[in-house]
Amino acid sequence: MTVFKLAFPRVNYSGVGAIEALTERLIESHGSEKGLLISDPALVSLGFAEKILNSGLNIDLFDDVRPNPDTNTVNQAYSKYVEVGAQFIIGFGGGSSIDTAKAVKILSANEGPIAAFNGIEKVKHAGAPLYAINSTAGTAAEVTSNAVITDTKTHVKHVIISDKIIPDISVNDPSIMLDIPSSVTAATGIDALTHAVESYVSVGAHALTDYVSLEAISAISQNLPLVVDNGKNIEAREKVALGQFIAGLSFNSAGLGMVHAMAHPAGAHKDLPHGVCNAILLPIVCEYNRSHRVEKFAKVAKALGVDTSDMSEEQASEAAISALHELNRRVGIPSGFGQLGVSEEDTLSWVPDALADPCAGGNPYPMPKEDIIDIYRQAL
Ligand SMILES: [Zn+2]
Repeated sequence: MTVFKLAFPRVNYSGVGAIEALTERLIESHGSEKGLLISDPALVSLGFAEKILNSGLNIDLFDDVRPNPDTNTVNQAYSKYVEVGAQFIIGFGGGSSIDTAKAVKILSANEGPIAAFNGIEKVKHAGAPLYAINSTAGTAAEVTSNAVITDTKTHVKHVIISDKIIPDISVNDPSIMLDIPSSVTAATGIDALTHAVESYVSVGAHALTDYVSLEAISAISQNLPLVVDNGKNIEAREKVALGQFIAGLSFNSAGLGMVHAMAHPAGAHKDLPHGVCNAILLPIVCEYNRSHRVEKFAKVAKALGVDTSDMSEEQASEAAISALHELNRRVGIPSGFGQLGVSEEDTLSWVPDALADPCAGGNPYPMPKEDIIDIYRQAL
């Protein structure tokens, strides 16, 4: 018997008004202490940062986070944290802002550089309190113990995994998600679906997370097309946000697999959106893994809304793969990396990083180098 560890934030606020619930609580607990708000320029220009800056909290702003955050950005954000004398951190955004905030939390109590914490449980001291407000419905960075930071020099993505960087409080407020462009909604939504599917079939899966993964697959696949068609559909937004949150609870403990291991180098070397890379790879890697998890993929098909009542388990598992392809098409995901300017030579250079990625260990079947090359070729 192996011991299964379930790890998640102490408190979560979900629903319209969740940001205000957080700021009220922080005013009570931090009083006049200085906090650093870490966000990105787009979110600030949309006016959402005002909700925190004008809440009565004593806050300074660092808003220079870009997609696929790198070690330079982390160092700049940490310098600001020290310069203003901050004692707590709020990460506000998608995965990029929250991951940067997690990295600053690490540096607040541990000697850098941030690259030294690459890997599993390398963080010694927990550091400053961290509150994470999710502005997209995808990465579940507000739930998880992961931070992915690209090395400015080597372009390798450092994947830092530690319980000590799970946010103390997480927030999912769909009212700030209404203006997300449909292409971003689609990519982040399929990222969340990938978390649910990969955690469900992972070698680290457990009965505790299996229920949650299937529920996430169902909530995301039913509601994502509605939100892509109409971004203002707040009920469907809330359901996708819930689905991505519980998918985060699940994969944070059960782990991921080769979709993520192969998507990380694509994001790091070509600066491609994480969700799009996952979406392209998801059906292809699932087809590869299918024969090792036929029973589970049959249940994935059902959760994706396929009527499997007249199908054998084998047929239902195949139907899951078709449904994943169809969902990609329905929400407008590019059909392959070739459309994004990637060549076969590019993908060959990603193979060593994919093999070394910490997510690779969660795949139901260890994928040898030749098969990685072949799957990248199919994904072109
Ligand atoms: Zn992901």
